[in-house]
Amino acid sequence: MRSTSHAGAVLTIDLDAIARNYRHLAELSPGAACAAVVKADAYGLGAERVAPVLARAGCRAFFVATLDEGLDVRRVVDEAEIFVLNGLPPGAAPEFARHRLSPVLNQLGEVDSWGAFLRRAAAPALAARPRAALHVDTGMNRLGLPQRELDELAQRPRRLDGIELALVMSHLACAEDPAHAMNGEQRARFDAARAALPPARASLANSSGIFLGREFHYDLVRAGVALYGVNPTLENANPMAEVVSLQGKILQVRDVDRPMTVGYGAAHRVTGPGRLATVGIGYADGYLRAFSGRGWGVLAGTRVPVVGRVSMDMITLDVTAVPPAEAVPGTPVALLGGGVPVDEAAACAGTIPYELLTALGRRYQRLYRGGEQAP
Ligand SMILES: *Cc1c(COP(=O)(O)O)cnc(C)c1O
Repeated sequence: MRSTSHAGAVLTIDLDAIARNYRHLAELSPGAACAAVVKADAYGLGAERVAPVLARAGCRAFFVATLDEGLDVRRVVDEAEIFVLNGLPPGAAPEFARHRLSPVLNQLGEVDSWGAFLRRAAAPALAARPRAALHVDTGMNRLGLPQRELDELAQRPRRLDGIELALVMSHLACAEDPAHAMNGEQRARFDAARAALPPARASLANSSGIFLGREFHYDLVRAGVALYGVNPTLENANPMAEVVSLQGKILQVRDVDRPMTVGYGAAHRVTGPGRLATVGIGYADGYLRAFSGRGWGVLAGTRVPVVGRVSMDMITLDVTAVPPAEAVPGTPVALLGGGVPVDEAAACAGTIPYELLTALGRRYQRLYRGGEQAP
């Protein structure tokens, strides 16, 4: 990777806060094990650094999206079980077994090819019997066995012969809204599916699902976004510790004293006297263009709005409210965290924190704080 020692912006990731969030979520689901979802490079924060910290905090199961992500996590976590959500690609079974990765079987075709692989690979050839999860669809209509395939499997359970099922799982569509009727409906469908299948441990809840109560926890909860400091509840104050902070640096400051426009498209018009600061961060860093005229930073304890459009490498802030001595070239400005909650920032850009985090660019200097010791 290119050196970022002279980067214009600094992304700080608090690994101790991730460990604290993990323990908090585990305590909220005392009857269940707590797995960590570290897909998409731990939601953009760096799975290589995040996963070992979670393992030291007690996490014994990880979820990733793809086989490649699974291999990356296996390199840094030796002990835990790693589930691959996007299923078993054709021909990939030996690779899964070799690296002790557990496929999430999302359709009958995958059940059959995993079963066939296990029956072919005689027991002594496999160091440890690899396990798999079975995903049944209960309303997402995205991945997982549809009802018809579930019925087929229930009629011919021998199709599971030789497969060690670590988990039967499903995924909630509306968990962040406790009042949504889908939650109860999906739970009922999940219970019906489990009754039709051989006994196995069960998993339904994502981060928000943990907050729906015990009847959603089953044997394993799958915490993702909340580990990274995002509010998993729709209306309550954020119970999670802040993990991400992003600071840009002022490149230039200018006084404006007459009506004039700022940036591309002349999209912002200054009307009276004031001061503008240009900060070296832009949409190429994942600072979304949707923050144009909407986002804000915090400088010297004062909220400073983004004015005009976000450019590729720069934004402009109105710093009129900040004493001139506190807004000079080189001064850091908080753009995420430190007074700019990731949830509020995402909402003002018309998106969700998941997208904001996974968009965080590669150009920052990345600092990881803490994470050295077992908590
Ligand atoms: C991403 C994902 C999760 C984690 O969801 P969060 O809302 O980030 O907690 C859990 N389960 C599945 C199947 C997922 O795809």
